[in-house]
Amino acid sequence: MNQTNGHDAEMPRPSDAAERKMQFLFALRKRGVTNTRVLNAMEKIDRGDFLSGIFADRAYDDTPLPIACGQTISQPSVVGLMTQALDVPARAKVLEIGTGSGYQAAILSQLARRVYTVDRHKRLVRDARRIFEGLDLGNITAISTDGSRGLPDQAPFDRIIVTAAAEDPPGPLLAQLAIGGIMVVPVGQSDHVQSLIKVTRTQTGLEYDELLPVRFVPLLEGLGKD
Ligand code: SAH
Repeated sequence: MNQTNGHDAEMPRPSDAAERKMQFLFALRKRGVTNTRVLNAMEKIDRGDFLSGIFADRAYDDTPLPIACGQTISQPSVVGLMTQALDVPARAKVLEIGTGSGYQAAILSQLARRVYTVDRHKRLVRDARRIFEGLDLGNITAISTDGSRGLPDQAPFDRIIVTAAAEDPPGPLLAQLAIGGIMVVPVGQSDHVQSLIKVTRTQTGLEYDELLPVRFVPLLEGLGKD
């Protein structure tokens, strides 16, 4: 390789990329992501495809990073732990509130039959759709709408994942959860540490489990400006 050519010299060699991916998966395991289906999905979907500019270089860091519209792509270990808690069966129809970069939806697309993902920012939905098409992820439908009302036309859902923090699990989402269904949602005030809650709908009601402290952008009402 011509070491005087700055571009070539900066490109990671394949062995570096493989090494970084191995470290990424090791870090996930260390944080408690141990489910093989989830790890396989996270190995296959490259977080770098959902980031742009300088941030793409940090795709394998276990840290949230900025995306368009003042939003963030979540920390990979939190994506892994939430996906694991969702316990997605292969036949599942899943709803995600908060498309953001599309990374979480892409991982879900490897585990579920059908994924609906919604965001209040049109631009994020448009960008994510383009990435899904490029990666041939044909089982994801991305829609720009206020997700705090869910997606009544497609309800009920076997699994619902909310990737923005609500003060309480939103009632319309609970109502759109199938019997036997699971929802994971960060609950608490924005700018504070929130708790990730797992809600299970049983034949007779709802069961709540508190999983781990997290920090997400707030679930806002209405559509974004762009
Ligand atoms: N899951 C994303 C990260 C989500 S960041 C990823 O993998 O990259 C949280 C997202 O929730 C933001 O994009 C924000 O616009 C969106 N959001 C906040 N309130 C919303 C609402 N009421 N309906 C839909 N999306 C909402």
